[in-house]
Amino acid sequence: MKSYNVSVFPGDGIGPEIVAEAVKVLKFTGEKYGASFNLTYGDVGGASIDSSGVPLTDAVLADALKADAVLLGAVGGPKWESMGYEIRPERALLALRKELGLFANLRPVKIYNALIGASTLKPEVLAGVDIMVVRELTGGLYFGEPRGVETLADGTKRGVNTLVYTTAEIERIAHTSFAIAQKRGKKLLSVDKANVLECTELWREVVEEVSASYPDVELSHMYVDNCAMQLIRDPGQFDVIVTENTFGDILSDEASMLTGSIGMLASASMGLKGEVEGLNHANGRAMYEPIHGSAPDIAGTGKANPIATILSVAMMLRYSFDMNDAADEIEVAVEAVLDRGSRTADIAESGVTALSCTAMGEEILKELRK
Ligand code: NAD
Repeated sequence: MKSYNVSVFPGDGIGPEIVAEAVKVLKFTGEKYGASFNLTYGDVGGASIDSSGVPLTDAVLADALKADAVLLGAVGGPKWESMGYEIRPERALLALRKELGLFANLRPVKIYNALIGASTLKPEVLAGVDIMVVRELTGGLYFGEPRGVETLADGTKRGVNTLVYTTAEIERIAHTSFAIAQKRGKKLLSVDKANVLECTELWREVVEEVSASYPDVELSHMYVDNCAMQLIRDPGQFDVIVTENTFGDILSDEASMLTGSIGMLASASMGLKGEVEGLNHANGRAMYEPIHGSAPDIAGTGKANPIATILSVAMMLRYSFDMNDAADEIEVAVEAVLDRGSRTADIAESGVTALSCTAMGEEILKELRK
């Protein structure tokens, strides 16, 4: 039996509730598919501030660095909002991303037929939408130097941020994206603003070069403003989208709203320990988490939807442990449970009795046990 070390960081608010359900699914599926998971728990975010005075301790970070994968709930909440920016719960996330070198953020956007009415877009526009947005996470405008705000001699101010990418940074995110496209619909769209920004002209050039190693994947390019429009006009045209950090931040939030419910959306953030090696993350670092926050407004009420976190576990099995059948089974179980009308409060139409977080977890487990 294969054995993997997984660091589990439930975090704050609804974090512990949703992570508890996702861990049950991880353990059950592992046993079924011949893998055992050695779980170590740690406090991050507000929970860590309360227990140790800082959002991320060296010991918890060391544990994450040693692990084969990290499962995170969510961090933050009103209790810690008045604290200084440097010690706020959210710093834990940024530190984990940076220290683990998580340069690729994967956000799947899949429309479930049973929930198609939950979106603000027309059902015929959404039918069959299944997109993977790959956002570069550790470079670009958010990290480029020089940056800052300076006061000029005449007393006015000047703000600067810099869009920077090296060939190596573009190559590794391109390899990751091509490898993902190979496992999906074999179509990759690279999004840039190459008509105006030289840095993204380089991006386009390097992505073209990398494409030579993936002849089975059809590569196309689109300017970011057009992509923002096309995501609403005809989202069904996309398979895998790769783009730089800031564009990816905006486009992935836009794409996530096609589904109409934040409680459904999983994510993976990935790094590599060694050379660029496509999607072979079995030897790499990765953190899996729902895209939503700690939802303090419903924490402790049992109303949280655990599906985003359960789907994050499916991504872990697929991308970190190469357990594609197990991942497929979880995704199919979620769909089956939705198809038979089971709903948590966030996705329930009026008049439908909503399940608690634990009851939804149990429904999915019941489906997996079949
Ligand atoms: P949020 O995502 O926590 O909540 C937004 C709304 O969606 C709320 O009404 C909430 O009840 C609902 N919601 C979110 N997840 C849900 C789920 N699984 N099931 C049912 N309903 C769900 O965003 P927010 O309210 O802006 O932020 C709350 C806290 O979370 C803040 O401290 C923020 O900084 C933090 N945050 C953390 C992360 C993270 O840990 N990755 C991400 C975003 C926000």
